[in-house]
Amino acid sequence: SSFASKNDHLFPKVKVLMLGDAGVGKTSISRRLTEEEFHPSYVHTVGIDFFEKAIQIHDQIVRLQLWDTAGQERFHSLIRPYYRGASGVVLVYDVTDRNSFNNIQEWMETLRENLNLGQITDTLIMGNKTDLVGRRVSSAEGRTLAQRQNCAFAEVSAKDGNNLETSFMGLAQRIWNRR
Ligand code: GDP
Ligand code: MG
Repeated sequence: SSFASKNDHLFPKVKVLMLGDAGVGKTSISRRLTEEEFHPSYVHTVGIDFFEKAIQIHDQIVRLQLWDTAGQERFHSLIRPYYRGASGVVLVYDVTDRNSFNNIQEWMETLRENLNLGQITDTLIMGNKTDLVGRRVSSAEGRTLAQRQNCAFAEVSAKDGNNLETSFMGLAQRIWNRR
């Protein structure tokens, strides 16, 4: 990143989890945000992937860390350390995949079960792939779900980058402001 230096590790970090069904675009979003490019290939790795970007909030440089599930989401078997210390969560669905939207509720429950007592997270429900035709979930439905769940809401495209930076900056700012 443009702020990269040997002192990077000294900056405070904000840990954000990427959750949602396989194929919705979690890895693409994470890469797009931190590497500013879109990789059209579909790669399954095991374990946890980790993306980091230095951002500026007010006058503070913060390391925004995105923890990506790296294929484990298929089994809903993300290990506890994945959740530890997380202060933000992005629940991703694909606006062209109704199932992935219906499963957001389940992901919310999985999240609640795995958070430690007293652990507070800001949650952002994110509809991805707005660049595609053949939408199956309207913006209004997404927004309504987010309001019911007391979450923020955004629609983005990892492909064209639409609304991505703004959404993550908003989330990071909300997390930072409630410290
Ligand atoms: P993950 O399993 O949630 O990590 O999803 P991936 O990031 O691996 O993406 C799954 C597939 O959807 C890949 O083929 C991506 O290229 C594609 N994809 C991801 N985001 C977008 C997007 O915003 N628009 C389009 N058109 N395709 C996307
Ligand atoms: Mg992935």
